[in-house]
Amino acid sequence: MKPAPFRYCAPETVDEALELLATGDPEDEVKLLAGGQSLVPAMNFRLARPGLLIDLNRIAELASIATRDDAEGSILRLGAMVRQSAAEHSPDVARLAPLMGEALPSVAHTQIRNRGTVGGSLAHADPAAELPAVMLALDARMHLRSVRGERAVDAGDFFLGLFETALEPDEMLTAIEIDAASAVEGSCFEEVSRRRGDYALAGAAARVRLDADGTCRFARLTFLSVADLPVRALEAEQMLLGERPHDELLRAVAEHAARREIDPGSDIHASSAFRRHLAAGLARRTLATAVSRATAAHGATDHGGASS
Ligand SMILES: Cc1cc2nc3c(=O)[nH]c(=O)nc-3n(C[C@H](O)[C@H](O)[C@H](O)COP(=O)(O)OP(=O)(O)OC[C@H]3O[C@@H](n4cnc5c(N)ncnc54)[C@H](O)[C@@H]3O)c2cc1C
Repeated sequence: MKPAPFRYCAPETVDEALELLATGDPEDEVKLLAGGQSLVPAMNFRLARPGLLIDLNRIAELASIATRDDAEGSILRLGAMVRQSAAEHSPDVARLAPLMGEALPSVAHTQIRNRGTVGGSLAHADPAAELPAVMLALDARMHLRSVRGERAVDAGDFFLGLFETALEPDEMLTAIEIDAASAVEGSCFEEVSRRRGDYALAGAAARVRLDADGTCRFARLTFLSVADLPVRALEAEQMLLGERPHDELLRAVAEHAARREIDPGSDIHASSAFRRHLAAGLARRTLATAVSRATAAHGATDHGGASS
C-alpha cells in the first residue's frame, strides 16, 4: 500500500523543526520522521495519516554520542537520532551503559537497526521493544524540547501506556542521558522470541551492585512485552537489597516479580501464563548473570582495575 498524501519538510536545525512542530493543528497531524522503521509501515497501512511529515534526518546536532563528567561520575548522552546500530557499536555505550550494548543486537535485524534510531524507538513506545525497558533499568533521563522550552523526564515517568509517552504534541525527544554504570556493577539483558530479530515474547533487564562482601546495595529489574508499557519490578528489587544473593533467593525474587508484579495479557503469540513463565525464568537468569558479573567486577577492582 501507499501512504495517504502528506506534506514534507526536512529542516536542518532543531529550532526549525520545533517551529514547524508548533504550527500543527488537530485537523492536520504533524509527525516527526526518524528512521521511519515504524512510522512508514504505519503510514503505508494508513494507520497513521499525518498531514505534515518533519524529517529529522538532516539535523546533525541530534545524531551524536557524547560523554561528560560531573561530580557524580560520567554521563552518556545519546542524541535522539543516533542510529541503533551506531549505539550498538559505540565503545562509549559498551563502557558506560553495557546493558544497552547487550540489548541492542536483539532489536530487529541489522538493516532495521541501520535506519532505526534510539529516540524513535523510545518515542514510539512499543511495549515489546527492548530499549524502553533498558532505559527504565538504566534510570535514563529523556530530554524533551518544544518552542515553549526544555524539560527532562525520568524514564519511569516517560512511558505512559501502549504507544503512549509523556511527549506533548509539540515536543521532540532530543537526547537521552544515562549515568555511567558503576565499575562494580553487573548487568544483563535476555529475551525470548520465536525467531532471532522478532519482537520478544518476553524480556528482562537486570542491574546489580554488590559490596565487597557480596551484599547487594543496588538492584534494578525491568521487563518488556509483559504489559502495555515496560515494567519495573520494585518489590523484587527491594527483596535483594541488604542480602547476599544466592540461587534460592534469586529464584524467589524472580517468582515474586513474575507472579505479583506483572499481569501479562494473552495474544496470538503467547498466553498470559506462558509469558509469566518466561518472565520468571528470564528474571532469574538475568539477575544471576548480573550478580556473577558484579562479583567478577569486584575481583577486577581488587586487583588494581577501575574503582567505583
Ligand atoms: C520488521 C521489523 C521488525 C522490528 N523489530 C523490532 C524489535 O524486535 N524490537 C524493537 O524494539 N523494534 C523493532 N522494530 C522497530 C524499530 O526498532 C524502529 O526503528 C523503532 O520502533 C522506531 O524507530 P525509528 O527511528 O524508525 O522511528 P520512526 O518510525 O521514524 O518513528 C516512530 C514514532 O516515533 C516518533 N518519533 C521519532 N523520533 C522522534 C523524536 N525524536 N521525538 C519525538 N517523536 C519521535 C515518530 O513521529 C513516530 O510516531 C522493528 C521494525 C520492523 C520494520
